[in-house]
Amino acid sequence: AKSCGKNNAKLYSSSLTMQIMSHVKLEVGLRKALKREELYLLYQPQIDVSSAEIVGVEALVRWRHPERGIILPTEFIPLAEETGLIMPIGEWVLRTACIQAMAWQRHSMRPVRMAVNLSAKQFKDENLTQMVISALHETGLDPRLLELELTEGTLMDDARATMVTLDQLRAIGVYLSIDDFGTGYSSMNYLKRFDVRALKIDKSFICGLPQDSENAAITRAIIAMAHGLKMVVVAEGVETGEQLVLLKQYGCDMVQGFFLGAPQSQELIVTMLKKQSLV
Ligand code: C2E
Ligand code: CA
Ligand code: CA
Ligand code: CA
Repeated sequence: AKSCGKNNAKLYSSSLTMQIMSHVKLEVGLRKALKREELYLLYQPQIDVSSAEIVGVEALVRWRHPERGIILPTEFIPLAEETGLIMPIGEWVLRTACIQAMAWQRHSMRPVRMAVNLSAKQFKDENLTQMVISALHETGLDPRLLELELTEGTLMDDARATMVTLDQLRAIGVYLSIDDFGTGYSSMNYLKRFDVRALKIDKSFICGLPQDSENAAITRAIIAMAHGLKMVVVAEGVETGEQLVLLKQYGCDMVQGFFLGAPQSQELIVTMLKKQSLV
C-alpha cells in the first residue's frame, strides 16, 4: 500500500559522524549551487475543475548535484533554511518563476498564474515586500499572476506580524494561498482575519480517497469551510481519476497532482498550454 505521501528518505543506517559529514558536504555544495547554476525549476499544472484548463502552475525547485544527481527540495530546503541560504535561493526562485511566467505570456497564450513557495524565514524577512515588488517590476509580471504559498506554521507563528506582512503583500496585488492546509495549527479565528485567497488541502488527506471515509469527511469539511470564508480550494496530490471525480462532486475548485501532471520542464508546460489553446 502507498505510504500516503510520507517521504522518510533519511539515512538512518549511516553513523552519526557520516551523517554530519555528508550534511557539511551538502552545505558546502549548496553554497556554490546558485553560482554554478545547478538549481532549476520544474512546474506542476494546477487545473480548474469546472473548465478542465490549466489556470496555474506551481514552481518546484530541484538541485542538479554534480556527483549525487538530482536532489529533491525535501532534502536541501531544510538545510537552506538552517543556514540562511534560503534567502538568496528563494529570491532566485521568485525571479526565475516571474521571468518564466512572462515568457509564457509572450507566446500569446492565456495568462497562467505562477505559484511560488515561500519559507517561514523569507516571510519574516523585513525586505520581503520590497523583494517581491522589485521582482515584479523588473520582470513586468502582473502581480495578480503571482501566487505566494505560505504554510500554516509560517502564518501562525506570530499572528500580529503576519497580519502586517499579509496586508503589505495584498497591497501589491499578489495572490496569497495557504499550503499544506490541515497539517499545521490554524486558528479558525485567524484564518478569517488573514484574508488569503486560496487554501490548498494537504495531499495526506487526498491520498486515501475515496476509500478512507475519515479523510473524505475532512476534505468535505475543509471545502465547506473555505467556501464559507469565500476562499478558493485546491486539492493537492490528486493521483487517480476516482479522486478527481470525488473532488469535483465535493465542489473543489482546483486540482493538482500526478493524475493531472507531474512537475515538469517549462518546455513541456508550453506544449500542454499550446494543446489546450487549440481545443
Ligand atoms: P509542496 O509545496 O507541498 O509541493 C508539492 C509536492 O508534492 C511536490 O514535491 C510535488 O512534486 C509533490 N506532488 C505533486 N503531485 C503529487 C501527487 O500526486 N502525489 C504525491 N505524493 N506528491 C505529489 P517536491 O517538488 O519534492 O517539493 C517538496 C516540498 O519542498 C514542497 O512541498 C515545498 O514545501 C518545498 N519546496 C519546493 N520548492 C520550493 C521552493 O522553491 N521554495 C521553498 N521554500 N520550498 C520549496
Ligand atoms: Ca506548495
Ligand atoms: Ca503543499
Ligand atoms: Ca510543503
